[in-house]
Amino acid sequence: MRFGREAFFAMNTGEVCLDKNENPFDLPPSPREEIRDLLSTITLNRYPEPEYRSLREALAGYVNVDASQLIVGNGGDEILFLCFLAFVKPGDVVLRLHPSFSQYSHLIRVFGAREKTVPVELDSRQGMFRIDEEALLDAVAASSPKLVLLDSPNNPTGFSMGPEFLARLARLSPCPVVLDEAYIEFGGQSVLDIFKKEGFPRHVLVLRTLSKAWGLAGIRLGYSVSGEKICKALNDVRGPFNVNVLTQEIAKILLHYREWMESRVYSIRYMRDRFVESMARIPGWEAFPSDGNFVLLRTTAEERFARSLFERAGIRVKFLSDLPWEGTWLRITVGREEDMRAVLDECSQACVGGEEEHSLSTSALA
Ligand code: PMP
Repeated sequence: MRFGREAFFAMNTGEVCLDKNENPFDLPPSPREEIRDLLSTITLNRYPEPEYRSLREALAGYVNVDASQLIVGNGGDEILFLCFLAFVKPGDVVLRLHPSFSQYSHLIRVFGAREKTVPVELDSRQGMFRIDEEALLDAVAASSPKLVLLDSPNNPTGFSMGPEFLARLARLSPCPVVLDEAYIEFGGQSVLDIFKKEGFPRHVLVLRTLSKAWGLAGIRLGYSVSGEKICKALNDVRGPFNVNVLTQEIAKILLHYREWMESRVYSIRYMRDRFVESMARIPGWEAFPSDGNFVLLRTTAEERFARSLFERAGIRVKFLSDLPWEGTWLRITVGREEDMRAVLDECSQACVGGEEEHSLSTSALA
């Protein structure tokens, strides 16, 4: 086998999965034992308690807000779906950044809404992404949106917006604003601290998930933190039993292991930053600093060639063909050390061996 025993293999395929921004670390033995005990005692013939009181208390303890401010969902995806159900009708304008989380444009299509986008800007000289804050505020005011979706850290660029700016935007917005903090444990600053001090603007909802930092993508649990009005609007459209009992109980167990989560997050951030530094030494490739558990890469290699490179190596990554900037773009989830070493190996081999053979040129990135 090419990579270490610990490498992050896809189930049954032997591939290294770096395409979905999952956490590469599985659960340690102690909560696993608790889950085993849980399975032998849990009541499964009853529906979940529809208010999710104890789960919301546990999550509220983690984010340090009142449990009444939380709504839980089958992943952050369901919370987004509920926002569309509650606030968007066919033909309405929904505002998002471009690029942003792919589910946003999917939901905009499914609900027959009209999309308005504000471009994320690439500062090629500084090698970083940013947003024109005034242009975003203007777009919120001028396009009469019914919903605004802002992911910060942004997927896939990894750049974050400042919490003061986001809080200002949320206060000015005439419609509900989702501030999507799915990756906040990995970097950037949460807006929650501001809202906890100054109160929640009536239109804002902060979206979180246990899929990323907590490494629980498989149990599907997302939650939102908001004021009373948004909570009521989401509860009005939410199915009564939208989070199953197993998910609830497993989440409650894991939320006791905060130190474990934080140490894994620390390792991932460390690995991410070393990876970006190492990529900077490989000609023909550019890696952008990120606040998420993923890194956006650009190469001058043709997409076809870059794809075959990773396929051959058994590494799954996400290619992004709709980005507005020159070059071939791919997003790589930060995995374990051996995974990232394998990615670096592939990129350097492509650059050393492939210039003529694979039309890999470095001039466009200079
Ligand atoms: N927001 C963003 C920005 C994401 O990238 C994702 C998942 N990739 C989600 C929300 C939803 O995550 P989940 O449904 O796993 O909670």
